[in-house]
Amino acid sequence: MAVADSPVMRQYGEIKAQYPAALVMFRMGDFYELFAEDAVTAAGVLQITLTRRRTAQASDAGVPMCGVPFHAAEGYIGKLLAQGYTVALAEQLETPEAAKKRGGSSLVKRGVVRLYTPGTLTEEAYLEAKRPTLLCAVGLHPTDTQRLALAWLDMSTGEVGVRGVGAAQLVAVLASMPIGELVVHNLPAGVEAVLPRRVVQVQPHLFAPSTAEAALARAYQGAALQGLGFDDPARIIAAGALLGYAELTQMGKLPPLRAPRIALPSSHLHLDIATRKSLDILESPSGQRADTLLGILDDTTTSAGARLLARWLSEPLAQLEPLLARQHAVKTLMHNNRQRHALRQALQPTGDVARAISRVLLGRGSPRDLGTLRATGQAAPMVMEALHAAEGLLAHHAQQLAGLPEITALLTRALAPDPLPALVREGGFVAAGFDAELDTLRHLQTHAHELLCALEQREAAATSLNPKLRYNQVWGYYLEVGKAAGNPPSHWVHRQTTTNTHRYSTPELLQLERDVANAAVQAQAREEQVLAELLEALRATTDAWLAASEGLATLDVLATLAEVAVRNAWILPILSDEGTLKLSGAKHPVVAAKRPDFVANSVTLNAGDVWLLTGPNMAGKSTFLRQTALLVVLAQIGSAVPAAQAQVALCDAIFCRVGAADNLAAGQSTCMVEMLETANILNRATSRSLVILDELGRGTATYDGLAIAWAATEALTQRIKARTLFATHYHELTALTETLPQLSNHQLAVKVWQNELVFLHEVKPGAAEGSYGVQVAKLAGVPPEVVQRAQQLLQGFESSAKGNVAGGVARVNDLSLFTAPLATEVPQISVAEGLLRATDIDGLSPREALQLLYDLKAKVLPQQAPTALNLKAVV
Ligand code: ADP
Repeated sequence: MAVADSPVMRQYGEIKAQYPAALVMFRMGDFYELFAEDAVTAAGVLQITLTRRRTAQASDAGVPMCGVPFHAAEGYIGKLLAQGYTVALAEQLETPEAAKKRGGSSLVKRGVVRLYTPGTLTEEAYLEAKRPTLLCAVGLHPTDTQRLALAWLDMSTGEVGVRGVGAAQLVAVLASMPIGELVVHNLPAGVEAVLPRRVVQVQPHLFAPSTAEAALARAYQGAALQGLGFDDPARIIAAGALLGYAELTQMGKLPPLRAPRIALPSSHLHLDIATRKSLDILESPSGQRADTLLGILDDTTTSAGARLLARWLSEPLAQLEPLLARQHAVKTLMHNNRQRHALRQALQPTGDVARAISRVLLGRGSPRDLGTLRATGQAAPMVMEALHAAEGLLAHHAQQLAGLPEITALLTRALAPDPLPALVREGGFVAAGFDAELDTLRHLQTHAHELLCALEQREAAATSLNPKLRYNQVWGYYLEVGKAAGNPPSHWVHRQTTTNTHRYSTPELLQLERDVANAAVQAQAREEQVLAELLEALRATTDAWLAASEGLATLDVLATLAEVAVRNAWILPILSDEGTLKLSGAKHPVVAAKRPDFVANSVTLNAGDVWLLTGPNMAGKSTFLRQTALLVVLAQIGSAVPAAQAQVALCDAIFCRVGAADNLAAGQSTCMVEMLETANILNRATSRSLVILDELGRGTATYDGLAIAWAATEALTQRIKARTLFATHYHELTALTETLPQLSNHQLAVKVWQNELVFLHEVKPGAAEGSYGVQVAKLAGVPPEVVQRAQQLLQGFESSAKGNVAGGVARVNDLSLFTAPLATEVPQISVAEGLLRATDIDGLSPREALQLLYDLKAKVLPQQAPTALNLKAVV
C-alpha cells in the first residue's frame, strides 16, 4: 500500500496495522477519511465518491480515498455495520493548536477510540428497540471437549448470562438467541451455518484461562468468581473471553455489568431449533410479527418490556415456584382492572433506562439519555403508587424503584424541559437557574445588546459628554464623543481620534466585549462541566437505575400478560410438577386471533400417553398439535392460556417435529433431516417431555416410513413414557391401540356433503376413515378430469390393497426396517410408469436422481436386488 508518503499517512498506516479486519475511519479535520481497500469497500457500500490521495510526485498514482463529514458519521457507520463490517474510529486526540504547542512534528495525535462491531453497539440508532443484540462467546472445558459454555452480554444494558451446554446442543442453543456477534477461538462445527457473517475469530490468548480470569476480575472488580457462580472452567473461559473482547472494542471501558445470570439446564423448558421453528414463537416464515406467539402478546408499554417478554418466550421456565410467583402477579392484575390500567399508564412515560444508563456510563450519554432517566424517575412514584397494596413479585419489583427520588430531584432541577438535544455540542440542556455561572454566560449571550446599551447609558449619565456606543472591525466597541465635548473621565482610555470625534474604551467595556465574545464558548464548556458533575452523580446511583430498569421491565411484562389475558378471556392454568396435561376448550392463540369461528378442542395426556391423530389434509391436525405445544409454552412463562380449563404438569422439553421440510441447502435430504430430528427426540425426551409429531416418516417411502413411525411410537409410549401427539396418514398405525394400551385414536371430524368435504375442525375419539385426499385436491382447484381419474385409480388401489394388506397389524408388525416394499400390483399402469409419474423431476437432487435410476432398474429388472435407499414414491 503506497500510503506512507507523509507523516500523517504513516500514522494512518500504523493505526490500520492494528485493526486489519476493520474499516478504519480516520479523522482529518471535519471529515472521517478511509483509504486504500477500506475506501473502495466503503465507497461501494455507502454510495459515495471514491477519489485518490496523491503525493507531489508526478509518477504517483495515489491511493484510493473517500470520506464522510464527521457530523453525519453515525448514519454512515450504521450502513457499514448493517452490511456486517466492523469500523474502527480513529479520532484526533488533541487540537491542532495543542499539537503545535507541543512542538516537534506538530502532527496531531490520533488513536482509535472505539471499535464498532455488530455485537457491541449501544447507540439507539443502531439498535432495535424491542430486540436485544447480544455478544456471545463459546468456551471449551480444558479437558472435556464435550462440555462447553456459552456466555453472552448485552452491551446496551450490561446484562450478562452464562450457561453450560453440551457440544451436541450448541448449534440449537445459538440458533435460539438474538446474536449480533459470536466470538470464538476454534470455530465449532455447524456454527457458521446458523450465524453467517456473525462469527469473529479472535486471538487465542483471550481464551487462555488466566487471561479470561483476569478479564472477569476487572469487569467485576475483584468479586469472587465463585460467588458470582463461575464454578466451572468452561464458563470462566467463555465469560472472560467475552468480556475481554468487549473491553477491546470499547478501549477498556465497559458498561456497568449486572451479576451474571447463570442458567441451569433444568430450570428452563428445552426447545430445540426444529421446535422453535415449527412453533413460530418469536419468528414466523412469513416474517410477520402478528403470526407469532410473541405477536399475540406484544402489547408491552416499554421497549425494555418488549425485550424481556421475548426473552421469557424464548426461555420458558421449568420450575414450579418461580412460575407460581409470576402467575400470582398476573392473577392479581387480571382481577384488578383499575390497578392494571393505573400501572400501565404509569409505565407509559418511563424510558429505556438500561440502555440510557449504559451509554451514560460509557461516556456516550446524550442529554436525551439524561432526559430518559429524568422522565423515568419522575414516573416511578406513580408506578409504586399503583402497586402500593401489592405483595409478592409485584411488591418486590415496585420496591426496585425506591432508590430513585434523590437523583431524580437532581435531574429535575438540572435539566432543561423537553425536548432535550441529541448531542452535547448542541447545548442548552441545563436548566436556567441551576448553575449561576452558566446563567451569567447565557445572559451575556442573549442580552449582549442590552448590556452594551446599559453601559452606554451609565457612562452618559455619569458625564455630560453624551457618548455614543459604536463598533468597527478594528477596534470593536468604543465610546465616541464629539471633539468639543470636553475632557473624559479618568477611567476612559483613548483609542483613536478622527476628524470630528474622539474614541474611547473603558476597562468595563473591554471586559464586557470579551465576555460577550467568549460567552458562547464558555457556556458550552460550563454546560459540559455541569454534565460531567451530573454523570458523576449518576454513576454513584448506577445500582438504583439498574434495579429500577429490571423492576419496570418485569412489571411491564406482568401487566401485559394480564392485559392480554383479560382482553381475550384467557384463563390461568393450574400448574403442577407432575401429572396430567389437560386442556379443555383450548384454542390456537395465533390462528384463533384471526378466525372468530375457531373451533375449540380438548386434550388430556399423562406420561406415556400417545394420541394418534388422523384426518384428511386441511382438517386442522397441525393446528391442534401446535396449539397444545403453544399453550404449554404460555403456561410455562406464567401467562394465561386460551382455554376453558387448563391443567399443566410442567414439561422439561417440548419436541416438535412438524412437516417434512427440506433442508437441501445444507445438503440434507428430507429423509435425513427427519431421521436426525427423530433421533434427537428419541435420545433426549423424558417422561416429562411433550412430543409433537406431524407426519413422521413422510420423507421416506411408505413402508420404511411406516416402520419408523411404528417403532418410534412404541419407544415413546413404552420406554420413554413421554406425552405424545402424533398426526399421521398411516392409517395402519391406528391398529396399534390393540397392542399399546396407552395409545388412543383421535380424528379431526369431517363430513362429506353432496360429494364435498366439510371440515368441522373438531377433535373426537376414533380413527378417521380415509384421507379424503382426492376431495382435498378438488377443493384445492385441481382440474376435474384429473380428480376423476384419481378417483378411478384410488378405487383400483384400494381394492387391490385390501387383498394384500388384509393381515393389517400382523403384517406390519413383521416388517423390519428398510425391507423391500410389498409387491402390490397397481392397476392399469406399470410400477415403473407410476414411479415416473409420481416424480417431480425438477425437484430432485442429483443424488435422488441417481437413486431414481437405480430404482427404475430394480423395478424393470427385478432379478437385481433393490438398494437400501429405495425411493418408492408409489405403491
Ligand atoms: P392439517 O394439518 O390437518 O392439514 P391445518 O392444521 O393445517 O390442517 O389446518 C388447515 C386450516 O384449517 C387452517 O387454515 C386453519 O386456519 C384451519 N383450522 C385449523 N384448526 C381449526 C379450528 N379448530 N377451527 C377453525 N379453523 C381451523
